Amino acid sequence: MSLQKRLNLSFMAMIVIPCILFTVALFFLFITFSGTDGVMNSSYQLQNIEKKNTIFSELKLLTTSTPTSFYDENYLSEKARELEELNIALLIRIDDDITFSSNLFSDLPIKNYLTPFGQFVNHVHNSVVIGSQAFKFEQHDFYLPDQREASIFFIKETSPLEQFTAEYLPILLVLLIVIIVLTNGTLSYLVSRSIVKPLKTLQQATENIKSGNLDFKIEEKRKDEIGHLTRDFESMRQKLKHSIEVQQLYEENRKLLISNISHDLKTPITSIKGYVEGLRDGVANTKEKQQKYVSTIYRKANELDALIDELFLFSTLDLNRASFHFEKLNIVHFIQECIDDLSYGLEKSGVQIKFQNPYASSVLVTADPEKLMRVFNNIIQNSIKYIDKDPGQITITLHKAEDLLFVTVEDNGSGIDSDDLPSVFESFYRADKSRNSKTGGTGLGLAISKQIIEAHGGSIWAESTKGMGTAIKFSLKLLETNGDTL
Ligand code: ATP
Ligand code: MG
Repeated sequence: MSLQKRLNLSFMAMIVIPCILFTVALFFLFITFSGTDGVMNSSYQLQNIEKKNTIFSELKLLTTSTPTSFYDENYLSEKARELEELNIALLIRIDDDITFSSNLFSDLPIKNYLTPFGQFVNHVHNSVVIGSQAFKFEQHDFYLPDQREASIFFIKETSPLEQFTAEYLPILLVLLIVIIVLTNGTLSYLVSRSIVKPLKTLQQATENIKSGNLDFKIEEKRKDEIGHLTRDFESMRQKLKHSIEVQQLYEENRKLLISNISHDLKTPITSIKGYVEGLRDGVANTKEKQQKYVSTIYRKANELDALIDELFLFSTLDLNRASFHFEKLNIVHFIQECIDDLSYGLEKSGVQIKFQNPYASSVLVTADPEKLMRVFNNIIQNSIKYIDKDPGQITITLHKAEDLLFVTVEDNGSGIDSDDLPSVFESFYRADKSRNSKTGGTGLGLAISKQIIEAHGGSIWAESTKGMGTAIKFSLKLLETNGDTL
């Protein structure tokens, strides 16, 4: 439920619940104190009031027309009977004596509560409590012909409800206020808790992030705005953590890169320095020795040059600053050309190369031929370097799948250890950690190949079995094909 809906509902509940509670409370009080009769027979009660008023008026009239009637026991008894039916007692007081009294309530000391002559004020809501009962009095004072002071009393037991209302009205009001305060307080607490609690969790999470701690998790299953906010916060934390981890990895790589570059640059420079010192100090004292020193210096300088070239290419690719010249390329001709270019080196190493093309003479891809040549060169040079069997064998195969062309270069060389396999495409990674074996290499070749293939929209990976051989596979986007045989 949305927060807005929840607030609206709680606002409505704050009004409705006290009303319902108060009405229910009143209803039960009414039932308890009045009984069902009180509820049902209100029209009957009205008739009784009318009857009583008629008798009262009749008696009042008598006070002027025939006041002697107030000495007439029979007449008064009759009226008293009529009134008793209405549950009203009749009392006549002349001077201070009660000259007539109904049987009703005769056991109660009502006399003591009668208002003296001339002092009665008709307070409708005032009732007199005698023992456990409450009574309402009506009084009419008049003078008899002999100037004696006389009073007529109608005494009626008030209904428990009336009595209750009169007595407990302030309590009822307090009860109403208490119900309102409790309901509103509880609802406000519940609603605010459902908002404040997750906000506190978020605040704690923010503090954690501020102090650099990202190793925590906040879970929230709610579907409202706060739930969304918490989930967004959690995904932000995960992304932040991931980006910091990536940054740390980059930092590590950068340090490693600098250390590897320094090492690989230092090695040829140290040997160039050694040979130059040898020439300067006259260690190369014969013509042949001097010739040998100079040609070694030249070879080392060339290595340095090639290394700097590779480094430069790698960094431009890494920074996405290398320019690619994509064109429509027939990969079948292209591979054939690569093989021809490498044939001298292949022959020299005694390695046979096979190109298995199940397709027709033309398979078109989009590629930068110069950059792709580097990839082929590096992969085949690697195979030549690591072939340890006689005869050495390299097989190039093509395979199409949907809009991709997969190229596999497989050799029967030493293979790559499964621990090294995931890392061979990292810059400066060499399975041979000594970095100075006769196989040479900087460990940039496959890293550069990966950058180039990815820039072509493809992917590159290695499969290898130690001691059996290695297969380097990469994909290129197919442009169109002619005369497929498969
Ligand atoms: P560079 O190519 O920069 O001269 P390199 O050949 O050592 O140096 P990569 O081409 O990146 O570097 O290859 C990385 C590592 O992967 C190599 O050092 C080697 O250990 C391993 N490797 C690559 N190709 C093969 C292969 N065909 N057989 C066995 N090991 C290989
Ligand atoms: Mg290489």
